[in-house]
Amino acid sequence: MNTGKKNFAHTLESMDFLKMDRRTFLKAVGAVGATAFLGTYKTEIVSALEFAETKIVWLHGAECTGCSESLLNGGNPDIVQAITKLNVNIAYHETLLAQQGIFVDGRAANTSELNSEILVDELIEEGNYILVVEGAIANGPDGSGRYCIIGNRTFKELFEKAAKNASAILAVGTCAAYGGINCAASAIEEITDFRGVDFKKEDQSKGMLQELGISKPVINIPGCPAHPDWILLTLGAVILGKIKIPDDLSSLLDKYGRPKVFFPSGHTVHENCPRRGFYDRGEFDTDISGDKCLWKLGCKAPYAHADCGLRKWNGGNSMCTQAGSPCIACVEPGFPDCARPLYVEAEDKGVLLGANIDNVSKAAVGAAALAAGAHAVRRMKGDE
Ligand code: SF4
Ligand code: SF4
Repeated sequence: MNTGKKNFAHTLESMDFLKMDRRTFLKAVGAVGATAFLGTYKTEIVSALEFAETKIVWLHGAECTGCSESLLNGGNPDIVQAITKLNVNIAYHETLLAQQGIFVDGRAANTSELNSEILVDELIEEGNYILVVEGAIANGPDGSGRYCIIGNRTFKELFEKAAKNASAILAVGTCAAYGGINCAASAIEEITDFRGVDFKKEDQSKGMLQELGISKPVINIPGCPAHPDWILLTLGAVILGKIKIPDDLSSLLDKYGRPKVFFPSGHTVHENCPRRGFYDRGEFDTDISGDKCLWKLGCKAPYAHADCGLRKWNGGNSMCTQAGSPCIACVEPGFPDCARPLYVEAEDKGVLLGANIDNVSKAAVGAAALAAGAHAVRRMKGDE
């Protein structure tokens, strides 16, 4: 790293990244690189976790455990560091718990050591924990919640009990945040009636907390799955007190409860896509496995508000569009309906300010100017 970058990295260490405005955030990432940027703050997050006494109760509802899998993929700190080396108390996490059963090693599982239902009840009783929810919560049929039963009770019942005693709630993944694929429009959607913790799709009045009449501060970390950095950095920031709950939430979160630093409202995945040059020149792939822009293959990145293009995935190595898959806007509250049909070119929704993408491709010479002009206008309007 050259001296200028070193100085900038040094300045960064004294800044609270969660309170950076978008311009400063992008400048910071651009100046030192996404990996160094994260590295700077991960040291701080590791310290936060080392001193943590905050308990985490992590519940799984209707989901695929992809967000926990994603978390297990985290690099620094990884989950093993967090659990074994560091003093973070993930007191309850069904995927990571030791064996459970009616009998365990020949002993009746009637203690919290061997029976997760007893354990979670005891933890809830003690209170003083951050509740992490992964997965949507069934409200159907007819408000009973019986479309998702875990052990002897509905997940709705367990969530209600746990939410009431939590100091704060993190809804991890699009299912927990907004309902996700459980809420996809279908013949059974109304009957199953899955809810996110604080929203159903874009509608906050239909979140499960509202249904139950519970008021709790919530941070949404959407994504299908959520990025491990989004989860760990947010958890670390909460534990460290970088986010004062509830006072800071209104300024740090967007209208869908997402941390603006990871999901900037004026910034889409499209802006930093490695294929962006092809888009600007009007060069599009029409078959999979090419190198050009994936718009015609249904890429919805111009509608997806996340920093995937800056942060990258799998240890900063790649991301969906880089790997050849059109973005499906998995972080958006309306997902998946807002991105359907997934691999079909989206209708023009104003991204190109009324210009039809076909005209852009046909007028190849003017494409770059038109695309660049469209973005320039958006910048002037303050949308970027
Ligand atoms: S592949 Fe998607 S994100 Fe990348 S430039 Fe094309 S439309 Fe934008
Ligand atoms: S690139 Fe799009 S589909 Fe992929 S993780 Fe980011 S928002 Fe989701």
